[in-house]
Amino acid sequence: METVILDHPLVSAKLTLLRDKNTDSLIFRHLVEELVTLLSYEATRNLNIVEKTVETPITKTKGYEIAQPKPLVVPILRAGLGMLDGMMRILPGAEVGFLGMVRNEETLLPSTYAERIPGEIKNRQVFVLDPMLATGGTLVAAIKLLIERGAKDVVAICLLAAPEGIKKLEESFGSNINIKVVCAGLDEKLNEHGYIVPGLGDAGDRLFGTAD
Ligand code: URA
Repeated sequence: METVILDHPLVSAKLTLLRDKNTDSLIFRHLVEELVTLLSYEATRNLNIVEKTVETPITKTKGYEIAQPKPLVVPILRAGLGMLDGMMRILPGAEVGFLGMVRNEETLLPSTYAERIPGEIKNRQVFVLDPMLATGGTLVAAIKLLIERGAKDVVAICLLAAPEGIKKLEESFGSNINIKVVCAGLDEKLNEHGYIVPGLGDAGDRLFGTAD
């Protein structure tokens, strides 16, 4: 597994605004979109492309287009939805699948409450959107489902990660599948409630308000 913590001044500045408890939902949503767009440059570094010929006003030349089968983008509901627009701006030809997962706040274990992923995703490159890689339980469960369906390689795009989550992912998947995690920041630890410290709070609540 490869982990990339994006080291870029724009990412650091936007992440700091996201962390600020005084940043309201409107600005928060806007910043998340911008951050995902920045993270997606790194996340799509190994996107499959094929050669094609393009005719410029001057002459024909070699160009590239995104290969088939189309990449699949999977936001993990609810908070991953806030990352979808930023990703689709960069990858407008991708297909979108949805995975609804919630973690039990006592056991911290994830369960799936909604799933709309194509039945067959053999050889697809999949981009999973999940803002907070905390215990890693949700992301591990999501990636396992995608691998069972035949995903070829999986890139998880997160805003923040905790060392505990990265470790859990590393322990859960061998080297026989390509998994990459791209994050805007790696924080210190998890607290006793499974929240990332210093973190940014509950990403779903900050994006969409506090309704369950
Ligand atoms: N989910 C969140 O929204 N925030 C955290 O800090 C951890 C998990």
